[in-house]
Amino acid sequence: MTYKQLPDIMYSEIYPTPVAEPNIVLYNHSLRTQLDLDETWYDADLLAGNQLPPQSTPIAQAYLGHQFGHLTMLGDGRAILLDEVITASGNRFDIQLKGAGKTPYSRGGDGRAALGPMLREYLISEAMHALHIPTSRSLAVVTTGETVQRERPLTGAILARVASSHLRVGTFQYAAHQAVIKPVADYTIDRHYPACRSADDRYACLLESVVQKQAELIAQWQSVGFIHGVMNTDNMALSGETIDYGPCAFMDTYRADQVFSSIDHAGRYRYSGQPFIAKWNLARLAETMLSLIDPDEDKALARAGQILDQFDFHFKQHWLKLFRKKLGLRQYQIGDSQWIDDFLLLLEQEQLDFTNAFVHLMDHPDAPLFSSEEGITWQMNWRQRINYPDDWDIARQIMIQVNPRVIPRNHRLEQAIQSAEAGDMSEFNELLAVVQTPFAEQVDQTWTQPPDPSQSFVSYCGT
Ligand code: AMP
Ligand code: MG
Repeated sequence: MTYKQLPDIMYSEIYPTPVAEPNIVLYNHSLRTQLDLDETWYDADLLAGNQLPPQSTPIAQAYLGHQFGHLTMLGDGRAILLDEVITASGNRFDIQLKGAGKTPYSRGGDGRAALGPMLREYLISEAMHALHIPTSRSLAVVTTGETVQRERPLTGAILARVASSHLRVGTFQYAAHQAVIKPVADYTIDRHYPACRSADDRYACLLESVVQKQAELIAQWQSVGFIHGVMNTDNMALSGETIDYGPCAFMDTYRADQVFSSIDHAGRYRYSGQPFIAKWNLARLAETMLSLIDPDEDKALARAGQILDQFDFHFKQHWLKLFRKKLGLRQYQIGDSQWIDDFLLLLEQEQLDFTNAFVHLMDHPDAPLFSSEEGITWQMNWRQRINYPDDWDIARQIMIQVNPRVIPRNHRLEQAIQSAEAGDMSEFNELLAVVQTPFAEQVDQTWTQPPDPSQSFVSYCGT
């Protein structure tokens, strides 16, 4: 495990706590194949931590995190890193068990997880992957045969998840605090950004690379209406993958200020705030690396500031690229950004479903999407922009590649999780299958229907 090359302070060796009766309830066979893992990985005892892979000396990683803006000592409180694996094509991955028992970083927690939230993470991460958005993946969910006590007793479960690493902004915050930032930054460069090794200024190159990756990632989230829900610095991966799915959800009706998380009272992690928060988190990352960027503090600050400022540019570029595709535009025009904003404003005013609005344009370019005069004009203008009907085939081709028909809708996911908790996985498996082919042209309407507008949805942290 290469992570152990880092200073000891960065982790603790810890074994998973065995569970009573492990039982595989979900397994990702295609991921096992993609990772070149042999069949020993299809084993309930191994996936629950009752038995270890050969030569595994598991660890919990230490990190800090700004949670809702406040800095706290964290670390893997219930996740244990089992192993690193390398695929035949040379890619390295972490395999981590979430809910595997207490660690030195558990603070008051029990180190365990409940079935519902683990199923939720499994399904949403696999849906994100199918949407071509960088993410941790899910290998399996195993029930433990034990109960976890939350507001009420719940079925205990463990999620085996896979990520290209679990290095977080919070990892750097902790490393800087412990005065070991250099080896941790070098390790991150080797693992994720090897092109920076030969750069004149390798640490500025590292920061720049992470800024770019995050800008791209958040633009992708925005393009599918994904709300992470807890963008704390410990939940932001330096690889640019989406990690730590908690109270996350996809928007139904478009609302720029949509919040789902029950604990996010101030709306810090609302949809429209995600780019700003990502940049805020990256500023915390930059602070940890100042001494590496330049020994002269003023120069370091100026350079870091300059790099951070690139976030807005990269984000906007990716955002424009994606939303222009969503609307089938080929030619760039001055004013595109405003024109897309106008569209989103219309969606909000008319309380339309975000996903289905794009599908409507794709399927019925002639049928009015909006009822207002302004909206009708916008759509007419849109048809002109894509040169409808002459160039419609080309525009539609662009649109079908980026506009999903199926997203994991909250009301369906909650229902499926409830049945799963009652012992029936059939609905969950059906939902999982459809979210894994989000761009399929033929899909049963039951999966694309928004919830009844009177149903308001709140998602809980689910610890
Ligand atoms: P999260 O909001 O899921 O990213 O978790 C924040 C921190 O709380 C992380 O350090 C977790 O490891 C820790 N944590 C969450 N739930 C538990 C639990 N049941 N037992 C111990 N630690 C936990
Ligand atoms: Mg976390």
